[in-house]
Amino acid sequence: MRFLIVHNAKAGFGSDAIFAFERALLKGGDECVMRVIGDTLPSLDALSDAEDFDRVIVSGGDGTETSMLYQLRNRAVRTCIFPSGTANLLFANLGNAPEPSAIARACRAGRTALCDLGEISWTDRQGERRTRGFSLMSGTGYDADIMRAALPNKQAMGEAAYFFAALTNPRPTVLSFRIKVDGKSYERNGIACLVANNAMMQGDIEIVPDSRMDDGLLDVIVLETSDAAQLLRPLAAGILDPSGHSVGRPFIENFQGRHVKVATSTPVPMQIDGEVISSQINSYEARVLERANELIVDRMSRYAKDGEETREETGEMAFPDA
Ligand SMILES: [Mg+2]
Repeated sequence: MRFLIVHNAKAGFGSDAIFAFERALLKGGDECVMRVIGDTLPSLDALSDAEDFDRVIVSGGDGTETSMLYQLRNRAVRTCIFPSGTANLLFANLGNAPEPSAIARACRAGRTALCDLGEISWTDRQGERRTRGFSLMSGTGYDADIMRAALPNKQAMGEAAYFFAALTNPRPTVLSFRIKVDGKSYERNGIACLVANNAMMQGDIEIVPDSRMDDGLLDVIVLETSDAAQLLRPLAAGILDPSGHSVGRPFIENFQGRHVKVATSTPVPMQIDGEVISSQINSYEARVLERANELIVDRMSRYAKDGEETREETGEMAFPDA
């Protein structure tokens, strides 16, 4: 088999788990190309010949992985997500077993799920139209403030940085949002309006229940609170009831759709998958890229379809050594 690993060595805490993965992955007769992305090798160049490989492994944090998935959209490349970042929320949402050897086994076995990607567009301060892919949550408001406050600590504290930052900003601005979902208009007051392709955050908490990245729909999430103390209620509900099916989510309203437009009363910060986009923006548009990526899943993943176990999955060998 031919493998391509595209690895961001600067991701997370500089973990070398990718090398344990590579060791577990390769068998006699295989060929493996590893490209380390950085200033001299942008990820765009690293993926230009992705179709020439049986599997492409994208290794990094959520940001790197998402930009690679966006480049691989609709290219029918069997893609394996390898978690090398601090939070690895995309990998957590996919639900594969995290051990490098288990990921290697799933990668060889080649079971895949067709997954959606989000695409978000906005106009920057210079008046230029910009577009990016997202795999988790993006949007405007308080959430972007949390991310901005968390950034200096993100490397050292990992995901705990976000909660720390939330508690240092007890009085977020209440905004009025004009929201259009597949042509239907809503007006809501709240502190953030997000679009989600995946709605599970740190601690396995689902911000809204039943969000999936294979249903061809984005979730629109409005945080209709006016202070951080109220924001703690849905967070607490999330801890008591991670799936959101029994307690529900106080102060959170959600819609689903394929095409979403959000405008705010005043310019506000925007974040894309946890990264704050510096410009203050008035509006954004998001759409779902349905079944854009063919992602490797193991049998335990919530995205695995039923079917026969393959030899690689059971660990049985085709030609066992005598
Ligand atoms: Mg969905």
